Amino acid sequence: MTQLEQRLRRNIAEVSGHIAAAAVRAGRSPGDVTLVAVTKSAPDAVIPLLAGCGLDNLGESRPQRLAERQRLAPDARWHLIGHLQRNKVRDALAAAELIHSVDSLRLLERISQVAGELGHTARLLLEVNISGEAAKHGFSPDELRAHWADCQRIPHVELAGLMTMAPLSDDPETARPPFRGLRELRDELRAATGLPLSELSMGMSGDYEIGVEEGATLVRVGSALFEGLETP
Ligand SMILES: *Cc1c(COP(=O)(O)O)cnc(C)c1O
Repeated sequence: MTQLEQRLRRNIAEVSGHIAAAAVRAGRSPGDVTLVAVTKSAPDAVIPLLAGCGLDNLGESRPQRLAERQRLAPDARWHLIGHLQRNKVRDALAAAELIHSVDSLRLLERISQVAGELGHTARLLLEVNISGEAAKHGFSPDELRAHWADCQRIPHVELAGLMTMAPLSDDPETARPPFRGLRELRDELRAATGLPLSELSMGMSGDYEIGVEEGATLVRVGSALFEGLETP
């Protein structure tokens, strides 16, 4: 085994161990949490190794980059996690099994239209700006409540759940109120409509353990897996 692969395996074991421990703390099963490895900071040489290391859910922020990297790991389930422009929807649907970052009704309508043309159902998460930061993409909770009936009527899409990003912070506990808020919003929308909304995508390298404690089914982890892999 190369040194690169040893380091990678050590990082994966560490992150997976933290996820499992956080799940147990919250009375959840570790198997209910999927680690999405965000490859945007990973060296190219690492991508073909990931399947052998047990990582089969991979994420990228941009459709173009996702398509490039997909050639290096064609059998993985690819997740698009970054802001999607409406003119990139076709590329995104061709490549990604789940889009985490549907942040407006206009984008949702565009995805529906393209998915209809392609004859398939797009699996999506709606991104919610729980913390209310001006620079963040996503529906505000009130906007989502107001548009919820419209969202549900849109064809060719499966609304699988919700996604959020916590404010940048050195203190992981900063993420707890928005993550809890996302879960409560999901519970509220679920009760109102009966849609399962089973997926909650919340948690990155700095705060994925909090995400798991608060109910995440998907955590999006990049730098904790890939940073410094190539430094001697
Ligand atoms: C980059 C990115 C991540 C991963 O961030 P890390 O801090 O490197 O783990 C997760 N989610 C989104 C939306 C990202 O853009």
